[in-house]
Order: sequence, then C-alpha cells, then structure tokens
Amino acid sequence: MNLSYLKRGTDAMKELENPVMSGGSSGKILRFYLKKDQSALLTFLDGSLLPMSETNGELVFDVPGTYEHSFMHEGVVADFICTLESEGRCPLCDERKYRFYNLFFTAIDHRKNVSKQGKVFEYNKRIVAVNRDAYKMLLKFLDERIDPQLGFVGLQMQAEKVKAKSSMIGDFFKFRGYVDLDQLKAQGMDVEPLDFSKVLVYRNCETLEKMGFGKVQAGTFQNTPYENVDDSSELMPLDDDTIPF
Ligand SMILES: [Zn+2]
Repeated sequence: MNLSYLKRGTDAMKELENPVMSGGSSGKILRFYLKKDQSALLTFLDGSLLPMSETNGELVFDVPGTYEHSFMHEGVVADFICTLESEGRCPLCDERKYRFYNLFFTAIDHRKNVSKQGKVFEYNKRIVAVNRDAYKMLLKFLDERIDPQLGFVGLQMQAEKVKAKSSMIGDFFKFRGYVDLDQLKAQGMDVEPLDFSKVLVYRNCETLEKMGFGKVQAGTFQNTPYENVDDSSELMPLDDDTIPF
C-alpha cells in the first residue's frame, strides 16, 4: 500500500519541526485577536515609515488603510470594507452600522494554536488591523523605541489585553527589540508581507445589497462588535469557512 501523503522517519520528523504558516492548508489569513488576559509575541513584517523630511517629522507608516464595518455575521465577527468613499453610498452605513478606520500590518503571531481537528499551528501570519484607539496605544508604548529607518519592519512586541473592551489587538504593548527578517527567512520562516489588495475582500454596494444589507431602516447607531462579544465565545475559529477572507 502506497500512502504517499504519509511521511516517515527523518522526513516525518522534519515536518514536525516545520512551523505551519499562514493558517495552514486552508491558506486563509486570519486577523490577530486577543481575548481578555491573553498575550502574544508579535513580529511585524511590514510597516516602514515615510521619510520624516516628507511628513513634518510625524510618524507615517507606509501601510494601507480603509474604513470597515465589523460585526457579528452568521456567528463570527466579519469585516466589510465601507463603500461610502469609493461608491458614494454604503448599505452598511445605511443600516447605521458603526465603522472604524483601520490600518493594516502583517505580523507573525508566535502563539501555538491547536485547531478543532488537533492540527498545530505555530508562527501564524496574521493581519493586524489597527484602529485609531489601538494606534494611539501602540505609539504610546512604542514611540520612543521605533527606529525611523525600520518603522515596524522586524519589530517584536508583546501584546496584552488587560481590559475586555479594548481593541482586538490589545491595550498593553511591550517593545522586545528588532529582529533581522532575513535571518528568520534563512531559518525557513515565511516573512513575506501580505498583499492587502488580495487579502482584503472588497464587496461593492450591489454585492452587499444582494447579501441582504441596507434594507434595515436607519435608526440608532448599533454598538461596536468588540464591545458586545462574549469573551468566552470562539470569535475566529481556525478552519472555519464562514470567515470572509
Ligand atoms: Zn459604510
């Protein structure tokens, strides 16, 4: 019997050592998220700074950003790009759903995760979505330590979530230093930053309407998703096909 997918001996052991990258076989990239009292070591793969001479001495990260609506949808927190700026209207804004402006970074989450199927994920590449509050906190803790030549590229930090209602990436950040990404690459780690034009799914107005959005009459603002989510629930289960990215 030839079971070619089974590895043996040295090869099998080698695979055991191999960190599984980028959400494993499904190839889906999840967002970095901390529950209350969790912490994680992150290594940023992108986030260089524009030359200070062009920004009046301000820290401006050369990363993409957009308005998003994030809310519980079909059992998970889903993120939808707001179409207001690009198309002049947005079914989700029509529903008075709260929107955030997010900046997007790529980082490796050093935590070990075990999926429901028992698969071990380590050194997972994650989308780090940073809203205004989170950005302020990041700068508050890291400002002095950021190397203007490197920005966030290769920066390692410990992220912690002390308060349940803080941003999804946490509220306490500790600078751990800079690592040489080329060196990590030489060790077999995937240090390629994400191409957000491919990773973030843009659904136009029409598609959002077909999904049933925009039919609710405008009323009061709905609450932000992360304030209302029960922290004990599994927000972003691995291997869950309902996550829209
Ligand atoms: Zn909108």
